[in-house]
Amino acid sequence: MADEKNNWELTVNSCMDGLFNPARDACLRLEYSKLSSIDRVTIAGGPLPLILGEEFEIKAYWLNMDVSFQSHVVEKYVLITHKGCGYVKLKGVKFHSESEELGWHINQLEKSGKKLLEKYGDSIEVRLMWEARDGDIYSLYEAGCITNGEVVVHGDENGDPFGRLRLICSINIEEM
Ligand SMILES: [Zn+2]
Repeated sequence: MADEKNNWELTVNSCMDGLFNPARDACLRLEYSKLSSIDRVTIAGGPLPLILGEEFEIKAYWLNMDVSFQSHVVEKYVLITHKGCGYVKLKGVKFHSESEELGWHINQLEKSGKKLLEKYGDSIEVRLMWEARDGDIYSLYEAGCITNGEVVVHGDENGDPFGRLRLICSINIEEM
């Protein structure tokens, strides 16, 4: 019964790459003050196994997401992918420019988000995020969202993908 469950705020699904963890938490704390109410599905590639994964990877992905969904009343999701992801490289996807890489990721974030809606229903909200580390500077951006079953794209869908990013937070990791 739903009322026996904790009133959970959200599930954050991101890559296991340790380069991003402390800074990501600091940024998420600005957006969602109660970090203890956030479930984490931290898995290689974040949501990308849904797109690039073999069957066993997709099963493992849903196993983790389902435990979160069934244990808590999750209505909000944050899907995060990042620049230079080793999982993407491992799957043989190559990019010729940072712009091409970002455009590809935004497309996959949208596709992954729609798969969450297919599974958990149109009433969930999904924020699509992109993170990057340039030297000591970590930045977390929103690249779009899905509300009421519709993908909301920032900026010009066919324009420069960097124009579609909305900065959430930027942190100098050395100063943390
Ligand atoms: Zn990664």
